[in-house]
Amino acid sequence: MMELRGKAVADALKEKIKKFLDKMDEKERPQLAVVRVGERSDDLAYERMVMKNCAALGLPVRVEAMNEQVTTDEILELIDALNGDDAVRGILVFRPLPVGIDEQAVIEAVSVEKDVDCMNPQNLQYVMVSDERAIPPCTPEAVMRILSYYGFSLEGKNVVIVNRSGVIGRPLSIMMLEQNATVTVCHSRTKNLARITSQADIVVVGVGRPRFFGAEYFNENSIVIDIGINFDERGACGDVDYDAVAPAVRAITPVPGGVGTVTSTVLLSHVLPEAFL
Ligand code: NAP
Repeated sequence: MMELRGKAVADALKEKIKKFLDKMDEKERPQLAVVRVGERSDDLAYERMVMKNCAALGLPVRVEAMNEQVTTDEILELIDALNGDDAVRGILVFRPLPVGIDEQAVIEAVSVEKDVDCMNPQNLQYVMVSDERAIPPCTPEAVMRILSYYGFSLEGKNVVIVNRSGVIGRPLSIMMLEQNATVTVCHSRTKNLARITSQADIVVVGVGRPRFFGAEYFNENSIVIDIGINFDERGACGDVDYDAVAPAVRAITPVPGGVGTVTSTVLLSHVLPEAFL
């Protein structure tokens, strides 16, 4: 069994980002703007992580913190200013925004070219028609990068994705189709799930149920990508029962240490020009 660790994939991408930025004068470097409303502890933790990762890469980051009493119009004014600021190449809005804020209006206001977290529906629309202006959603892109890094081509492969959400299964299915995979998308109403997944070459799961997928969902040649992030009495775990499945398949991502490890670096890579991606 081959363990598809995310760290190696993230490190290779970080190295590429760093090399790109090292060649630039500090003032010329593309900047990430983080928009935070209020002081929710998970937003502050996420912000610290983004700051740390940006510092390690030499990527300038600017935090625009607004107090919780702010209005939708005031946030839209800020977004408008960031859209028009040539130094800012990426805008990341922490969500959920406080109750009373028109979140949809805010995410739709973020310029598509600066929408590093693929929040704007226009960006998803570009993904759906494989328009080159698309900035893909980070988790599906992390899956694609893991497969590519470990040398697994999608050409002609049978892929089953167990997730049909707008941020994971749907865009990922299109991205995989684009690389000539034959894609089946499953969900909670799918009948005989194990029969379908166990016949695929590559299985991507993201259902949000701890250790849900046992060995009966796979075969000895399966390449398994586990997107799930769950917590149970034994700590953090994926949707796959790793201990039971890992010895019985060809390759598998661990949780923690798999897809989630790559996602945050993918987001930062989106601040760089398209040619880099
Ligand atoms: P979501 O919108 O709740 O989607 C879950 C999907 O799983 C739905 O399509 C659902 O089917 C399907 N599902 C649920 N139970 C099922 C079952 N018993 N059999 C078959 N399919 C089932 O969640 P999401 O936002 O896409 O996130 C999914 C998971 O990914 C979560 O665990 C989340 O923590 C994790 N995640 C990871 C990352 C990362 O970077 N690794 C990023 C984001 C999210 P229906 O459509 O029929 O309801």
